Amino acid sequence: MDFKRQKVRGGFSRYRLIITLGLAVFLPAAALIYINFSQLRAFERDKYLEATIRQDFMELLAISEKSMGKKVYAQIEQARDSFPSPDYDQPIKEQQLEEVLSRSPSFTHAFLFDEEGMMFRTQRSQGTDMDVRKEHEEMSESYETWFSSKEGKGFVETLNKKPHRIHLKAMPVHRMGVDGPAYMLIALFVLPDVSPKRVVIGGLFFDPCYLKNNFLPEMLEASVNEKTSDQGGNRIAMMIFVADQMDGQEKPIVASTGWDEGKPEVVRKMEVLPGLAMGIKYQGVSVKALGEAWVRRSFVLLGILSLMFLGGLVLTKHMVSKEMAVAKLKSDFVSNVSHELRTPLALIRLYAETLELGRITTQEKKHEYYKIIRKESERLTGLINNILDFSRIEAGHKEYEFRETDIADLVRNTLDSYRYQIEQQGFTLKEEIDESLPAVCVDREAIARALLNLMNNALKYSPNEKFLRVKLYRENGSVKLEIEDHGIGITSREQTKIFEKFYRTGDPLVHNTKGSGLGLSLVRHISDAHGGSIDVDSTPGKGSRFTLTLPLNGKTRPAAAHN
Ligand code: ADP
Repeated sequence: MDFKRQKVRGGFSRYRLIITLGLAVFLPAAALIYINFSQLRAFERDKYLEATIRQDFMELLAISEKSMGKKVYAQIEQARDSFPSPDYDQPIKEQQLEEVLSRSPSFTHAFLFDEEGMMFRTQRSQGTDMDVRKEHEEMSESYETWFSSKEGKGFVETLNKKPHRIHLKAMPVHRMGVDGPAYMLIALFVLPDVSPKRVVIGGLFFDPCYLKNNFLPEMLEASVNEKTSDQGGNRIAMMIFVADQMDGQEKPIVASTGWDEGKPEVVRKMEVLPGLAMGIKYQGVSVKALGEAWVRRSFVLLGILSLMFLGGLVLTKHMVSKEMAVAKLKSDFVSNVSHELRTPLALIRLYAETLELGRITTQEKKHEYYKIIRKESERLTGLINNILDFSRIEAGHKEYEFRETDIADLVRNTLDSYRYQIEQQGFTLKEEIDESLPAVCVDREAIARALLNLMNNALKYSPNEKFLRVKLYRENGSVKLEIEDHGIGITSREQTKIFEKFYRTGDPLVHNTKGSGLGLSLVRHISDAHGGSIDVDSTPGKGSRFTLTLPLNGKTRPAAAHN
């Protein structure tokens, strides 16, 4: 797998990722958000919610008027059933008409007009009221005049065509005990058992006080209570007012509880009470405000959802990119490692073959070749050990064997085995080992490997000033092992990353130097397992100092896997 091909594949999968994210996630979600937004805007523009509420209000008013009408007609029909027949004698008719009134205190006047003329009676209890008496005289006279005229017959015909054969009309009247305008509802009707050819007409006048103080408030209250609240918990209120007011003010004659000041949202002219109209609204809040609040809430919600979606998308992209970066690092690692394995193997093979051919005659040269073969195989072992350790750590199987160890001895031995390589590469080695250190409980092999990795890095990344210092000393309650070089150094931004697996800095020298990116991650794992730490202090262009700190009262626990 060569590097160039690797790069092309990386670019291609990124492209594929963007296409997939775009087609499978971004486009549908963006379309959904767009549709929702435009729908909400249309809602806002067309005042859809408000229109729906108004429609609802309209229906409520219709229902309310219907039940009012039902009650009005029932009262009239009940009284009409007790009306005297026009064929009775005058005193009986009079008595029966009086009885109609005494049975139903909700009527002020009642009359019967027949061939014998107008019989007009008024509720006795109200007879003292000047307004009522005046009304009695005027009404009695005007209706008699009307019905006796030619129009009387025509009116009977009209009545016979009306629902219930009742004609309703309302007129404003004056009453002492009523605040503001009072309304009188007048019902004119024909009697059921009388021939439609005869001009016989009955009349009932609803008491304005009863209408205003009892009947209408009760009806409004009943309607309002029936529809206590909508899904949003808003309570409704209703009122009745004089229709077609000149000043356009809808001042309530009667209102249900909760009708504060304010205009009705929807009005309906009443057929049962001609001249009056009903109005409806929500208690304390206008439909417009409700609609606006709803749209605002929906926009905010949609905004939050969109942000969450975008956040999710960014997160996904970030995660996937990270995974892809790790995948790329892994494949770089494979390519680097295979190269690293190949170099010592090629050297071993070359020197072994040369020896085999027997062309080398001097003992000195032979010795040198053997040494190279040994060193190269040691390098190979080191590399393979690194890889094996790494895979054990990854699988969570890595175990450490802690033993009381003379750490100075361990460091010196490791340096001795590496000294040849150090010197051969032209490095000045400074050893500062404190011989008086107490025994520390460590995994010898692991500490030696950590030191080797750190020294190997110092060698690899010091192209100019070839200097290496290895210092072992005691500080407070711990032992410190310092490996210092005068190499290329590491930027502070990258100092935290170099301990991650596969990570390699962007320095061109690092790029051209073979490496797996595993060494420091192993060192960190080893230091963690010992309850210690690994730190770096470095200046780019000046050099680096890695410090491995091990606690003196060494831990003897088997290492927890740390990736
Ligand atoms: P590698 O096999 O690449 O050396 P390591 O895990 O040992 O992997 O190191 C990770 C990276 O840290 C290296 O690729 C290099 O960029 C940087 N690094 C490590 N040691 C040094 C050092 N002594 N000087 C400069 N850079 C270093």
